[in-house]
Amino acid sequence: MGSAKNWYFPGCTCGICGHKILSVDHANLDHITPKSKGGDDDDSNLQISHRWCNQYKADFLEGEFKKPTFAWNIKCLALYKMGLLKI
Ligand SMILES: [Zn+2]
Repeated sequence: MGSAKNWYFPGCTCGICGHKILSVDHANLDHITPKSKGGDDDDSNLQISHRWCNQYKADFLEGEFKKPTFAWNIKCLALYKMGLLKI
């Protein structure tokens, strides 16, 4: 399974919103099919994502949630840098 650190590379994009992940500190591993819905820890079910996108997606499946916008990402990044996002 590994961690976000193993998956991150400069210029990689978030599997949830499709925007660039600027730092490994902002990255998390997302279960494409959530574990609560039968997804496993296999690499094929994992994708790198923003921490805030991962939290936003929660237990939804692809297509069940509205894709986060770039503007929303910028807001989350600012809040995260200020320590206001508890993720
Ligand atoms: Zn994202």
